[in-house]
Amino acid sequence: MNNDYSALMQIAPRPQITFTRGAGSYLFDEQNNAWLDFVQGWAVNTLGHSPAVISTALVEQSRQLLNPGPAFYNGPAVKLANRLAALSGLDQVFFANSGAEANEGAIKLARKWGAKQRNGAWKIITFENGFHGRTLATMSATGKPAFEPLFNPKVPGFTKVPYGDLDAVAGAIDADTVAIMLEPIQGEAGVVPASETFMQGLRALADQHGILLMLDEVQTGIGRTGSLFRFQALGIEPDVMTLGKGLGGGVPISALLAKERVCCFEPGDQGGTFNGNPLVCAVALAVLEQVTNDRFMEQINLSSRALSAVLTDLAARYGMGRVRGAGLLLALDTGTVNAPALVKHAFDLGLLLNAPRPNSLRFMPALNVTSEEIIEMGRLLELAIQRTQSK
Ligand SMILES: *Cc1c(COP(=O)(O)O)cnc(C)c1O
Repeated sequence: MNNDYSALMQIAPRPQITFTRGAGSYLFDEQNNAWLDFVQGWAVNTLGHSPAVISTALVEQSRQLLNPGPAFYNGPAVKLANRLAALSGLDQVFFANSGAEANEGAIKLARKWGAKQRNGAWKIITFENGFHGRTLATMSATGKPAFEPLFNPKVPGFTKVPYGDLDAVAGAIDADTVAIMLEPIQGEAGVVPASETFMQGLRALADQHGILLMLDEVQTGIGRTGSLFRFQALGIEPDVMTLGKGLGGGVPISALLAKERVCCFEPGDQGGTFNGNPLVCAVALAVLEQVTNDRFMEQINLSSRALSAVLTDLAARYGMGRVRGAGLLLALDTGTVNAPALVKHAFDLGLLLNAPRPNSLRFMPALNVTSEEIIEMGRLLELAIQRTQSK
């Protein structure tokens, strides 16, 4: 039976339906009901649901080689590492299976580097309301107030400061500090972008103190914000960066990238059974090929403006707040309108949206979303706003 959900652990409230098929910006259930998807697996499905380039890459690679094991080189992993290094200006790559695992690797790399290069420094400055994942160390690095009482004792060594507050960062650096780690746009916090000034200030502080600047681009990377990596729009370069979500376009792959001087893992320090397997690397290569096409990035920026215009117009007409974010990672402040209630009404109307906060909506459509789909989203969103306001 497809609707007996009792054998699944309940880790999130889920609607009582089973999705069976996806195509581009649409998802379908068993009865062939359709939903216009502006969540896309939480900014994961870069090219929408089940794009042909991904199924082709999966089929072709699965016929060639699935899994020689992480103790051997394979063609797609080598090619993908070289491609990511060339595109990012970072030198070496470690592949993993989730954003949390890539961040866990970044934390370990920083501690190892601190042990070898910074007299044993091991503490990492992270930010209030930041999000880095759900392993024990990445939950400890996360600044979500809701995580604070959970699973204690946490992994020590994360000093949390307010996002955007350069003086607080400067004041938190001591002899044991090895790195500053942050999202260039806080995604789960409700799409809160860091300013160029703040990011450049962090770069300067890191250089001045000889510590690492580590960017969690799990949500912002791979074209999501209108440049291949968010840091490219901020006039800085990180020492370490993590990628996940959009990298695999729907298959589980993530990456930890670093400058050569930081790459100090020795055999035995880091690894994982499935890491860098050719199947997922072949898919990531296919995704990158699409996203790095010049016209593609231009299209993201056009769609961003179109989506922003639709949201700004609705905000003006229904007394809501500002549009925030970059590229196709946008948020709308709903003011007095309850965002989770709005998401429920939208769901009933056939539109998938996300409310990261009680008063904000997040929009993360496929990067190849069409202008017709953006207009249709606006139409459904307006109906959902009306239903929410009339309650
Ligand atoms: C989603 C996310 C993660 C965690 O990625 P998982 O694949 O869920 O482990 C980490 N950092 C940021 C910024 C994210 O958005």
